[in-house]
Amino acid sequence: MVAKGLDPVIIVGGGLAGLTAAVRLAEKRIKVKIISLCPTRRSHSACAQGGINAVFDTIHQGDSTYEHFLDTIYGGDYLANQSSVKQMCESAPEIINYMIQMGVAYNRKENGELDLRMFGGGKKNRTVYAGTTTGQQMLHCCDEQVQKWMEQGMIEKYESWEFVSLIKDDNRCNGVVVQNVDTLELKSFRSNAVILATGGAGYIYGKSTNSLINTGAAASSVYQQGVLFANGEFVQIHPTGIQGRDKIHLISEAARGEGGRIWTYKDNKPWYFLEEMYPEYGNLVPRDIAARAIYEVCVKQRLGVDGEKQVYLDLRDVDESILQNRLAGVANTCKNFYSIDPKKEPIKVFPAVHYFMGGLHVDNYHMTNIKGLFSIGECDYMYHGANRLGANSLLAAIYSGFKVAPHVLDYILGMESKDDKLWQRTEHDVITSTKEEYERIKHMNGNESPYKLHQEMGTLMSEYAFIERNNRDLQKADEKLQELQERWDNITINSSGNWGASSILFVRQLRHMMELARVVVISALHRNESRGAHYKPEFPYRDDDKWLKTTLAKWTPQGPKISYQEVDTSFITPGTRSYDTKGR
Ligand SMILES: Cc1cc2nc3c(=O)[nH]c(=O)nc-3n(C[C@H](O)[C@H](O)[C@H](O)COP(=O)(O)OP(=O)(O)OC[C@H]3O[C@@H](n4cnc5c(N)ncnc54)[C@H](O)[C@@H]3O)c2cc1C
Repeated sequence: MVAKGLDPVIIVGGGLAGLTAAVRLAEKRIKVKIISLCPTRRSHSACAQGGINAVFDTIHQGDSTYEHFLDTIYGGDYLANQSSVKQMCESAPEIINYMIQMGVAYNRKENGELDLRMFGGGKKNRTVYAGTTTGQQMLHCCDEQVQKWMEQGMIEKYESWEFVSLIKDDNRCNGVVVQNVDTLELKSFRSNAVILATGGAGYIYGKSTNSLINTGAAASSVYQQGVLFANGEFVQIHPTGIQGRDKIHLISEAARGEGGRIWTYKDNKPWYFLEEMYPEYGNLVPRDIAARAIYEVCVKQRLGVDGEKQVYLDLRDVDESILQNRLAGVANTCKNFYSIDPKKEPIKVFPAVHYFMGGLHVDNYHMTNIKGLFSIGECDYMYHGANRLGANSLLAAIYSGFKVAPHVLDYILGMESKDDKLWQRTEHDVITSTKEEYERIKHMNGNESPYKLHQEMGTLMSEYAFIERNNRDLQKADEKLQELQERWDNITINSSGNWGASSILFVRQLRHMMELARVVVISALHRNESRGAHYKPEFPYRDDDKWLKTTLAKWTPQGPKISYQEVDTSFITPGTRSYDTKGR
């Protein structure tokens, strides 16, 4: 029976998180509308090549879900909430079995058991993968389920629609306003429950491994409407990006999981510095550690290859069959974009912005501080603490999609019916202010280019809020961001033709990106310690007495106001995190 009298739940975002939540709600006979900026099958989840963590122990190494949990908490430098992470790790095998039932063809060994590969921050083979298209296969399988429910009238999709604003009264969600990116038509949808699953925000750094739609604009928009943003200072820098002209291509951690080695020259001889510094984990230390070591070698010791900011990722000793099969995506990227044959020459790489550990603050049921607004996937903050382990993100995206659905159901069934007049008033207010903002942007006639402002923002974020931060630079970065915000008012719009339409949308996204950039910078400025991806040489050690806490940023017209929340450490007492021989 379809639940009657309930408005469809709105899910903004059609990546793995959004689609799994949609399928789970449809299974519970709750109608859903999915809003997505891009066609759902092209969501960023499709880019994930490396794999997804889940304990199957088919290689008989004595692995356990508890060890997966320990590695995740340790890898996140004890900042992740332990009860939630434990449940996620325990659910991982069930998630893989569900995906297998939906048709995902994970790689298998000759005896038919799942094949597993190594990823950073673990000593056991725990990463399940589907050729070199793990994310794409999972996304497409979920999308097929969505299609099935669409045919039954349970799910409707709105692709090429951008989230503009939440409609709310006081502290309760009433619906959303969205805009068609081709026709610029505005629409509102009424709903007591909205799930935001809009992914990460790498584009605020300009060039990153993310796609250009990862602006974080939707998360920023609700942040400006009162939702708390948590742990903004924790931005993952992936150790191995190839610096292209417009974009950075990621070389998956799978390359090192399959035997790739990082080195540079020292005293005219190859120096495998990660293996020397961290003999237990070698090239598979977690990303924060590897990225910092590469930075230290290139920037501080000036030992980068050819004197540049780059080191070698060497796959020449990896079996040809592994390169052709298990690492085909890596080999293709090297050949198609850079004319490099990784069997013949090492790849030049440098760390690149990759993932936001921070995100919208949610409770254990994924509800934000606005009642009825939920957040899942990369745009929430819940599972990775100060540093995410590779292959844990697909898991968190799907797990949070699974987890949120029953709670959304409980929430909407427990709601008292709302007054129609309240909806009409709140909807009218948001539509009016959206139209006013749109008209204002359309007629902007100053002398600043929005694309140049974006470039400047990316450059300053990459300079001041990257691997190493210091308080003087962060202060300067915030001042410059405020200057950019002032210059935003003086933008010019070329409103002729379609480029004009996309410029209008970009200008609005840029304003949102600037707000989030300030969250990253101010959160980093306040945290006077080093933990996970946040490293301040002025405060080189972790300081649990003062900083074992989640950062919460609240929007104010003057800038983010920071407060803190306790971290759930109910299972493991935080101890020293070390990946050298003395490590765990
Ligand atoms: C190159 C690369 C490789 C990766 N490899 C791995 C890997 O091997 N293993 C792993 O675990 N993780 C990997 N990750 C990370 C992982 O892919 C992502 O964190 C995860 O897929 C995010 O899923 P999601 O559903 O939260 O968001 P996404 O898949 O990014 O989906 C976001 C959705 O939101 C929509 N959207 C965005 N903004 C708006 C808006 N304003 N209005 C309306 N809709 C909007 C988009 O259209 C899209 O449908 C990789 C990341 C990158 C960049």
